[in-house]
Amino acid sequence: DLLVVGSANADLVIGVERRPAPGETVLGSDLAVHPGGKGANQAVAAARLGARTALLARVGDDDHGRLLLESQRTAGVDTDGVLVGGAPTGVALITVDPSGDNSIVVSPGANGRLTPEDVRAAAPLLAAARVVSVQLEIPLETVAETARRLPAGARLVLNPSPPAPLPAEVLAACDPLVVNEHEARFILGEGVGGAPQDWAPALLALGPRSVVITLGADGALVADSRADSLDHLVGPRVGAVDTTGAGDAFTAALAWRLGRGDDLREAAAFAVRVGAAAVTSQGAQASFPTLDEVDAL
Ligand code: ADP
Repeated sequence: DLLVVGSANADLVIGVERRPAPGETVLGSDLAVHPGGKGANQAVAAARLGARTALLARVGDDDHGRLLLESQRTAGVDTDGVLVGGAPTGVALITVDPSGDNSIVVSPGANGRLTPEDVRAAAPLLAAARVVSVQLEIPLETVAETARRLPAGARLVLNPSPPAPLPAEVLAACDPLVVNEHEARFILGEGVGGAPQDWAPALLALGPRSVVITLGADGALVADSRADSLDHLVGPRVGAVDTTGAGDAFTAALAWRLGRGDDLREAAAFAVRVGAAAVTSQGAQASFPTLDEVDAL
């Protein structure tokens, strides 16, 4: 019922005392390899909540690709739409220093080879979807083709991350556009002033039918052009351990509940609880809650 069209990366993480200067070598911790990428994360987050979820993505014919397929299948995601080959699996090389700051180099690899043609070839997967969720770690033309191929009655949920200029036809198809504060500023222009409450109408004016602005520990703002509404949803207070993947868990939860017929406000009220649950443990996919864990919050 939920189709995620997006990226799948292997996250290669090494702890370092400090980052190397140009030409320098430093020693780090043992290597940790985690399944990641926004598309793969969203699919796992939704499936763990109990959503019937499929992933349209591309990985390489290599060990990282097999790790990603395995993590999707373990979570219960339909992986018939995961294409294999064409380039090495996407990789994020992540160094983490003692203060917890990350430095990241991403090699998109196979994610960059997910083409509009791949979207057209996945017509049966698209036809079965009530909600299609996309992000920007795949080519923009592939995102645009997904928007064009949306089945009648289905909703497009777009998280423009990493932020990039969006064509008007893509913006117009979003219902909702889901942004954090940084992405909202990028889309509105870095010089934008005011508070998130002011950004919601400004984002709606760009064409999406609805907008969600996530505010970290402060929850999320939702605005719907049809209802002419602006609501602030706040999740439970939690001790945040690691916010990696919180936005992916939030968006997956939102997309799933919209597909089940919730209105935007109801879906966002659920999603802020899922986002809060996801920050209470380490990692991205490893931190995504089950429905029982969300209910227990
Ligand atoms: P991103 O992870 O994309 O930067 P946010 O930081 O806005 O996005 O977080 C997305 C969602 O995750 C929030 O709307 C909220 O539901 C949840 N969340 C994030 N950080 C916290 C936190 N410290 N406490 C509770 N919930 C959080």
